[in-house]
Amino acid sequence: MSHSIIARIAVPVPLYSLFDYLVPVTFSHPPVAGARVRVQFGRKQLIGMVVSLESESMFPVSKLKPVLDIVDDQPLLPAEIIKLLKWAASYYHHPLGDVLFSALPKRLREGAAAELKSENHWVLTESGNKVDVNELKRAPKQAALLAYFKNSAKSEVISSQLNEDWDNWRSPLQSLVDKSLVEIIEKVQTAIAPLSNVSNDRLPEKPELNSEQENAAREVIGVLNSYQTFLLQGITGSGKTEVYLEIIEHALAQNLQVLVLVPEISLTPQLTQRFTKRLNTIIASLHSGLNDTQRHSAWVQASKGVARVVIGTRSALFTPMPDLGLIILDEEHDASFKQQEGFRYHARDLALVRAKNKNIPVLLGSATPSFESLENVSREQYSLLKLTKRGVLSARPPKVSLLDVCRRPMDDGISDKLFNKIEEHLNNDGQILLFLNRRGYAPLLMCHECGWTTACQRCDANMTLHHHNQRLRCHHCGYEKPAPTKCPECDHESLYIPGAGTERIEVALTEKFPSVVISRIDRDTTRRKGELDKKLNQARTGEARILIGTQMLAKGHDFPNVTLVGILNADQGLFSADFRGTEHMAQLIIQVSGRAGRGDKPGEVIIQTHHPEHPLLHTLLDSGYTGFAKTALIERKQASFPPFSYMVLVRCESMQKEHGIEFLNECRQALNYEEIETFGPLPAPMERRAGRYRWQLIILSKERKSLHSVLRQWVPGINKLKTVNKVRWSIDVDPQDMF
Ligand code: ADP
Ligand code: ZN
Ligand code: ZN
Repeated sequence: MSHSIIARIAVPVPLYSLFDYLVPVTFSHPPVAGARVRVQFGRKQLIGMVVSLESESMFPVSKLKPVLDIVDDQPLLPAEIIKLLKWAASYYHHPLGDVLFSALPKRLREGAAAELKSENHWVLTESGNKVDVNELKRAPKQAALLAYFKNSAKSEVISSQLNEDWDNWRSPLQSLVDKSLVEIIEKVQTAIAPLSNVSNDRLPEKPELNSEQENAAREVIGVLNSYQTFLLQGITGSGKTEVYLEIIEHALAQNLQVLVLVPEISLTPQLTQRFTKRLNTIIASLHSGLNDTQRHSAWVQASKGVARVVIGTRSALFTPMPDLGLIILDEEHDASFKQQEGFRYHARDLALVRAKNKNIPVLLGSATPSFESLENVSREQYSLLKLTKRGVLSARPPKVSLLDVCRRPMDDGISDKLFNKIEEHLNNDGQILLFLNRRGYAPLLMCHECGWTTACQRCDANMTLHHHNQRLRCHHCGYEKPAPTKCPECDHESLYIPGAGTERIEVALTEKFPSVVISRIDRDTTRRKGELDKKLNQARTGEARILIGTQMLAKGHDFPNVTLVGILNADQGLFSADFRGTEHMAQLIIQVSGRAGRGDKPGEVIIQTHHPEHPLLHTLLDSGYTGFAKTALIERKQASFPPFSYMVLVRCESMQKEHGIEFLNECRQALNYEEIETFGPLPAPMERRAGRYRWQLIILSKERKSLHSVLRQWVPGINKLKTVNKVRWSIDVDPQDMF
């Protein structure tokens, strides 16, 4: 009897084990590792991925189910990516099957071929070339199409182009085909929506790099063939992107592919356009705004080496790129690089792992680097490159001041002093950006008589008042209802509306400056597709004179006309329950301030605060982000928080509070190891959300290695704990926030 071949398969389910299947003897060859296969799993058929081929199984061969069929002849994922994902599954203690499949675009998860779909191309036949358009006078639509073909600069026309230029082109075109004037050739797609065409004609002048930029670029270009991590710390507007472009050009010239990761919020068409215009190559962009076909296509183009540059958000990190020679991560401090559910990986940290495996450099860029990265510079793990001057020479760093708003009239969230400043800048032809980390009209409604507030029934939070439709909405669970006009408890007639969100600021400013174009940019005003880009454009051109926005406005955008930036509620971060609260606050203040004075007009930043004496604010203003980080890092060290220790959070949700607490207590008892410390069970900062109680256990260790070896022993057993079925749990390695 011949030996059986067993395929060890990862399936996309939240279980920690791999599953053995028998390769039927009827198959002409076994599947290769990295190929997808179809298997029966429970009552469902699933697409799984072969991790290895084995000759033995822990189970009797007669009990194994057969592989149903093989999807890929070649490995779908190259060994490099599988190695990275295996590492990630082990580091984040997440099931390998789920990890492998969350790295794939949806189409591939569902079993689609990793090939480009072909698209019809039409060309004029010889007689089509000769024929006179006037001969088709009696069929005007056909005549028009024929003329279009004759005038078209390209020799071929593809269906997506026809879709753009014509309504109902199919039937007249078919008539032209029937008359042998046009013929179809089917071609593999080489460029569709998310790809930009190579455009020789519009390469704009690139600025001459200043010496700091030049130096930074040289350093990285010098080591394109080896692993090294650089931190490019450049003040906002210092021309980091120009440095990236310079290095990318060199990498492309050496026939390397480049991966550029950016936060979701900054991956705008403007950024892609800037890259497209400057780089004479094919660029694929991968982000959440694409449909499944576009994602699939971009992924395949990159993995076949057709696209030479990939610009994408977090998950683009897993795109196979055979000639990958450099990874750039812009705004490396941004929290969106950490996935917050399911497979909770950090794209920055995994980028380093990928680069190390591939022996290529990584370039992290930021005006406000994460404390982790700064600490890695101190430990000489990263090389620091600095840009200290603004790219546009006439642009100077803005003048920043604190505005004490204690006991000042502050109707609608803006103090009288700031109102005056806004007026002054409007009169001087300036542009104003107001930043407020809270959307809606007001964070709650309140009754002065009895103390009633708009608490959400399902969360430990108040419901936000939205003015335009007079509704209350919970921003945490989505629950919505009409806003009451009097107190539901005591019938008191007038309800108090404390605090302000972006909508209220907009209403107040519209009343005050009725003839000024005001643009509010937050999640509520940019839901419709294309709306954000329209608004960003209005902001850039200066058509909108006052911009009011949330985080969406804080990052990466270049608004050359902004002269005044107002930060309306800087205080939130000062007293946050999160140990990263002050770090994030400082990053936000610096990033938002950086929007001022980027053109040739001088900029001014005003920070409203109720705590003008707070030492952290002063350190930030007096010694800048670097000085601030130094001070704050000393505090971190004293408290033994990351980056001076390693943290893992066991998160847990349950319908009944006791269940979560019991479960975490059980976890804590099992986690009785010398190498680690555990804290909790503790309620999450928002204990109840969408009707569920949320509790957590903090695990800290001075040593990363021993922490992980403890977890490796412990995590697979969690599903056997007595109380596990009453809760939803997850493990968060290197958590970015405690919510
Ligand atoms: P960052 O990415 O650091 O925010 P950018 O690369 O977007 O900065 O540059 C900010 C502005 O300065 C852009 O308008 C850019 O064209 C310009 N700029 C950058 N470097 C130079 C340079 N060396 N000379 C002239 N202008 C520059
Ligand atoms: Zn009341
Ligand atoms: Zn709620």
